[in-house]
Amino acid sequence: MDFNKFLVFWYSISIYVMILNPLIPFVEPIPSRDHDRSFFDPSCILNCKSDQKPQKNQSRVAATLAPLRSSCEVWSKTCSKTVLSLAKQPETVEWLKRLRRRIHENPELAFEEFQTSQLIREELDRMEISYRFPMAKTGIRAWIGTGRPPFVAIRADMDALPIQEAVEWEHKSKVAGKMHACGHDAHVTMLIGAAKILKIREHLLKGTVILIFQPAEEAGNGAKRMIGDGALEDVEAIFAVHVSHEHPTATIGSRPGPLLAGCGFFRAVISGKKGGAWNPHHSVDPVLAASAAVISLQGIVSREANPMDSQVVSVTSFNGGNNLDMIPDTVALGGTFRAFSNITFYQLLQRIEEVIVEQAKVYRCSATVDFFEREYTIYPPTVNNEKMYEHVRKVAIDLVGDNNFRVVPPMMGAEDFSFFSELVPAAFFYIGIRNETLGSIHTGHSPYFMIDEDVLPIGAATHATIAERYLNEHR
Ligand SMILES: [Zn+2]
Ligand SMILES: [Zn+2]
Repeated sequence: MDFNKFLVFWYSISIYVMILNPLIPFVEPIPSRDHDRSFFDPSCILNCKSDQKPQKNQSRVAATLAPLRSSCEVWSKTCSKTVLSLAKQPETVEWLKRLRRRIHENPELAFEEFQTSQLIREELDRMEISYRFPMAKTGIRAWIGTGRPPFVAIRADMDALPIQEAVEWEHKSKVAGKMHACGHDAHVTMLIGAAKILKIREHLLKGTVILIFQPAEEAGNGAKRMIGDGALEDVEAIFAVHVSHEHPTATIGSRPGPLLAGCGFFRAVISGKKGGAWNPHHSVDPVLAASAAVISLQGIVSREANPMDSQVVSVTSFNGGNNLDMIPDTVALGGTFRAFSNITFYQLLQRIEEVIVEQAKVYRCSATVDFFEREYTIYPPTVNNEKMYEHVRKVAIDLVGDNNFRVVPPMMGAEDFSFFSELVPAAFFYIGIRNETLGSIHTGHSPYFMIDEDVLPIGAATHATIAERYLNEHR
């Protein structure tokens, strides 16, 4: 190279350094092929590996941008996408599947979730996440963040069902007569996945995320007992997800206001006087009284309830004597009732008792009605707070797009998340697992129930984004 050419070359290099170099920090970080964490994390400027530290002459610009971009001070779609990228790293996806399969193979019923709880604690220990245990026997309350307000909670339920799995696959339940047929194995996995993401981004959190792993959703006591043991201490908002076979994989759905019905059960014993069926005038017949009670119960919803306010009363059990020639002493009958507001729910409860007791009297019998209130098998309605619903909607649209968010109708099913939503602003939402190719088309509580595991990273990212963005926007 002659001297003139060398001067031109040197001049070009200088121009590049002076003009272009300061623009470099404006360019979004590009994920590396090996999905190195610090490349994914826009906060790399604050928290890089030593060999990725920005050059000195970039740091002034980076420092100016950091509060706005790196720490997601103003939440943007890029922040949500960064969280999603973390969840979708191939090694994370494989880890989530392994976790879910281990839980699926070892289903445990309400308040017996010992191994599931241990598995969760081992993962939390590995991630150096602090937690309180035991709560409600097998439950866990973990926390990530500053340790200071605001406190936002995300909840997963851990229990399985007394159902024999009929799906033949490699990771079928190893416990006869028990199965994760409601997807709580996926709920636990998605919350552990969120824990991992939030731990990676802990330095960005503007408050504290509380992770609640609760026992016994199906049996109804879990949430109530977790609350009794302090699960909601300091918590100002709470969120939870349920997988749904009604929506395609990763579609998210929810609605403001009442989402799931309040659910109660009743069992009545109607007592008469035993006697020979051939001489009915010497006995007091509880079968007739119970039959009249069943007919009258049908009138509560059809004649007393506002038709615009959906309610259900169903008698599902009716047991009298077993001697075909004798009028029995007692008849036991029972069933369930549902409503979408606390007022109508407790009106139903009161009228069921009145109707059974009074109908028994008409036929000279007596009756007692048990609503199992002491065992907390009454679930209040699950009502979504409008602002919390809106938060979920915004997060979902950023993560999965407008087309994959649905406003869903209220459903007559019930959830003990309602105990949380009674106490703090809350939102419950669904995430789809329907995939016809895989055969994940069966309703929860079916022995053929299965999930599309592609939902796991999306669910983990949704939880993490809901929590981080909540703290960001509510400090
Ligand atoms: Zn269930
Ligand atoms: Zn469930």
